[in-house]
Amino acid sequence: MPFDHSPVNPGRWDSDHMGDQQSPINLRDAVVVPRLADELAVRWRADQFRAQDEGHGWRLRPKGEHVVSLGGLDFRLENVHFHRPSEHWVRGRPRGAEMHAVHLRADDVLRACVVAVFVDLGEPGPSEGKPPSGIDLPALFPGGGFHRYEGSLTTGEFDEIVSWVVMNEPVQVEDPALRAFIRTHADHPRPVQPVNRRFVLTTG
Ligand SMILES: [Zn+2]
Repeated sequence: MPFDHSPVNPGRWDSDHMGDQQSPINLRDAVVVPRLADELAVRWRADQFRAQDEGHGWRLRPKGEHVVSLGGLDFRLENVHFHRPSEHWVRGRPRGAEMHAVHLRADDVLRACVVAVFVDLGEPGPSEGKPPSGIDLPALFPGGGFHRYEGSLTTGEFDEIVSWVVMNEPVQVEDPALRAFIRTHADHPRPVQPVNRRFVLTTG
């Protein structure tokens, strides 16, 4: 798959190679669209996950099926991973950490919907150094308002195929094993990118 699996290639950070709809971004000056909230339905379950170091970072892949519906289109969960500190900024500041739940949909072209959730790690717990095998995914979804914009993957070829949903409220990670995993195995963030002519929408 030409998707988020290629090793990091520093040459790709050269802006000559990229379009003008890159991610992540600094979230500010969003357009309030109250009915935007109706467009999102997240159907996650607690599940078993297989953790793998894929060169550019660790990915947790679900055993079962998890679906996000955005604007009436279904996307299936492909992987969950983390960045520390966060990739998206809010009004000029990064947050402690950010979860990316990457969902895909293949029609004529490959499209992605990434649900991003800011993560509070709390106090460091004991580190077993072992990735968690089970994740209570619904516990990592805060609900409530979000920001929406069109952007790119933040690794690999930075393909501009992503409908981003960035949740406003952070979640606390209660599972000590997952907390330790995020502390030790999260990806570094890509720097924020220019918004250019895009609109960033928010539920308010
Ligand atoms: Zn990511």
